[in-house]
Amino acid sequence: MSDKDGKSTLGLGGSGRSGQVKQSFSHGRTKSVVVETKRKRVVVPKAGATQMTDAQKEKNPLTARMAGDPSKRPAGISDAEMERRLKALAAAKIREADEAVTRVAEEKAREEERERRRAEIEAKEREEREREEALRLKAEEDERRAREAEERARLKDEPKPAERPARAADARPAGSRPAAPDRASIEAAAARAEKPGVAAGPRRTDRDRRDSGGDSDAKAKAKAEDSRRTGRLSLNQALDGEGGRQRSLAAMKRKQDRARQKAMGNVRTEKQVRDVQLPETIVVSELANRMAERAADVVKSLMKMGMMVSMNQAIDADTAELVIEEFGHKAVRVSDADVEQVIDTVQDKAEDLQPRPPIITIMGHVDHGKTSLLDAIRHANVVAGEAGGITQHIGAYQVTAANGAVLTFLDTPGHAAFTSMRARGAQVTDIVVLVVAADDAVMPQTVEAINHAKAANVPMIVAINKIDKPSADPQKVRTALLQHEVVVEQMSGDVQDVEVSAKTGQGLDGLLEAIALQAEILELNANPARAAQGAVIEAQLDVGRGPVATVLVQNGTLRRGDIFVVGEQWGKVRALINDKGERVDEAGPSVPVEVLGLNGTPEAGDVLNVVETEAQAREIADYRSQAAKDKRAAAGAATTLEQLMAKAKADESVAELPVVVKADVQGSAEAIVQALEKIGNDEVRVRVLHYGVGAITESDIGLAEASQAPVIGFNVRANAPARNSANQKGVEIRYYSIIYDLVDDIKAAASGLLSAEVRENFIGYAQIREVFKVTGVGKVAGCLVTEGVARRSAGVRLLRDNVVVHEGTLKTLKRFKDEVKEVQSGQECGMAFENYDDIRQGDVIEIFEREEVERKL
Ligand code: GDP
Repeated sequence: MSDKDGKSTLGLGGSGRSGQVKQSFSHGRTKSVVVETKRKRVVVPKAGATQMTDAQKEKNPLTARMAGDPSKRPAGISDAEMERRLKALAAAKIREADEAVTRVAEEKAREEERERRRAEIEAKEREEREREEALRLKAEEDERRAREAEERARLKDEPKPAERPARAADARPAGSRPAAPDRASIEAAAARAEKPGVAAGPRRTDRDRRDSGGDSDAKAKAKAEDSRRTGRLSLNQALDGEGGRQRSLAAMKRKQDRARQKAMGNVRTEKQVRDVQLPETIVVSELANRMAERAADVVKSLMKMGMMVSMNQAIDADTAELVIEEFGHKAVRVSDADVEQVIDTVQDKAEDLQPRPPIITIMGHVDHGKTSLLDAIRHANVVAGEAGGITQHIGAYQVTAANGAVLTFLDTPGHAAFTSMRARGAQVTDIVVLVVAADDAVMPQTVEAINHAKAANVPMIVAINKIDKPSADPQKVRTALLQHEVVVEQMSGDVQDVEVSAKTGQGLDGLLEAIALQAEILELNANPARAAQGAVIEAQLDVGRGPVATVLVQNGTLRRGDIFVVGEQWGKVRALINDKGERVDEAGPSVPVEVLGLNGTPEAGDVLNVVETEAQAREIADYRSQAAKDKRAAAGAATTLEQLMAKAKADESVAELPVVVKADVQGSAEAIVQALEKIGNDEVRVRVLHYGVGAITESDIGLAEASQAPVIGFNVRANAPARNSANQKGVEIRYYSIIYDLVDDIKAAASGLLSAEVRENFIGYAQIREVFKVTGVGKVAGCLVTEGVARRSAGVRLLRDNVVVHEGTLKTLKRFKDEVKEVQSGQECGMAFENYDDIRQGDVIEIFEREEVERKL
């Protein structure tokens, strides 16, 4: 502080003075610092005698005159009187002088007190300001880089703090009065910054309060203006923009905190650095969780990187790694395999293993009796075992053979389902029952089934069906099988063969026995004590129950409440329902159960694994869905309609029949898709644009329309909006309940694609009433148009007793004597055929027009 004006010798000494000041920081931290202030020397009138006399003289000239000069004494006053008076005067003078001295001393003390306070405040302010400026410079530097454009613009508007102290240093007058405005502004700043230490609150006198308090804003503003004139800088001014933009207290606090944290650099060091396990993708909230940071902060940090994600969205590992670094932690990448490592893959010990029922799939050519056989086995068992028991179609069922062996049958016959399951890595089947109709022998699909079973290395049992039929020739079947390297026991081979009739039930017990025997040979074991692993054999979205999957437990035991991951889905077992529709608490090896409590619909063939925590389940499911997505992208699978179109155009050499397939269960959908994809040759093929489970929806119609594809519904119907939409857009919807009908139709349509179809429209019928012979024309039929219209240009057929006797064109069409183009129904006319004369009374003329139409399915 400048003391060029401090001429006084009466100051309380210019020595330094020190004291403790409490600094407050955010979050209630405080710190005591030693503040050393230089007290200012103050101008105070001298309390010396001369000055006082002078003052006295001015104040009381009469007394002065009397005291100093007796000659000026008024007349008529005695010496004694004079002396008395003088004494009194002197006493009064002394008293006055004393009073003056006291007054001056008091004034001086007050002044000094004010000065001292101001000095202290200014010292603190200066210190604060210096620190603040240092911090601000740093903060501004940081913010300039980090903040968004708007923020930066605002910062730019603020005054450069460095300019002010320069002015403050030289232009400050020495007068003590400006102290009041300064104090006011300091207090204002202090109030804003919530820094009681700066305000020196407790030391405020009444007068100070009068000076600064109360009439507030206008006054404060005037004072601020004043202090600006004086060049002094208050904290408030330094931080306030010239434009007068007021920051909120919270913003101010945040800014100070941030600046302080950055300047001190002590926040990060206190923080615990964590190793963050980072999979291929991670949900933002989970990432925050693993870093022990707030999710909102993570989202904010991502926004700074230009990624607008919510905390429930997943981000890729690279982005997550940046975030982790930003927060000062360490990312530990975990590979795909690591994510799935939580799945229990420990090999079962031999002593833990117990026999489990075999799982059987029935295969064979169409119409050889697969479904009938499955029904017969189930029915026979229900009747024998659980009287009144209602079987429930859940995709598989269990029966007990006569010898007590439990067998599990998959309810989806055919090799399509079998293959698609295998393709998904779920080798569920232990034994294949190959059904061959005794009256039909080995057919193409029989051969396919044999090949599939062999490829999967699954033992076969041959069921020679329809043995009840008179035309049955089981021996022919056995011989035919030889050609395909299936040597049955009767032919001294090792493949069991059983003659059965699904219709009469003949031989069913023998078949079950054969299966049980085969199972024994296979020594099928599992460990019921471990965490369950199973395969989805069917899955669907049930309106009332949500996603439902039929799971065939392969190992371990699945219990209610178990947390599991299944394919790209996960869940917690809410309920288990067995093949008899009963709720059960657990399902052991080879037991099929409906599982409720999934978060999404898995696909047939997906493998179910029980894991320990939901987080694990979710992480695995997320990872798998991402991996699947990547795989699809990598394979260049057409995912958008544009891509579909582009692809279709790219290979024009092959005609394609696009179809959209919706089915009631995943198994059917996949079977249909596989069957459809087999249709076709080098010229034409069926292309399944999309297939799924559930009702036909508007989005299916949209896809079909865009690709000019029909929609096939297998045991499902279009909902009302989809129906309307299909009508409007001219999209064909076909419903089927038998896969082979469907396949045959599509086959026909696919072959129809090779050439346009010529369609006939019958436009009218006429009956011949009479036949005339007209010279020059030949025979003319006098007819009555009974239906529709007779048209001259149309084609005609002559029908005699519903048999076509001639087909040709008309030579003439007459109404009375006039040649006409058309004759309406109910009118009579004369017609003659071109190049044909054999017409008789009573014949019917069919009138048709030909139209070349592109074949639709
Ligand atoms: P899938 O196509 O292999 O499932 O064969 P299905 O079970 O639908 O049977 C086709 C036809 O054969 C049906 O009309 C059945 O009634 C009939 N069928 C199935 N098994 C037998 C049988 O053992 N004896 C006789 N006579 N007919 C049978």
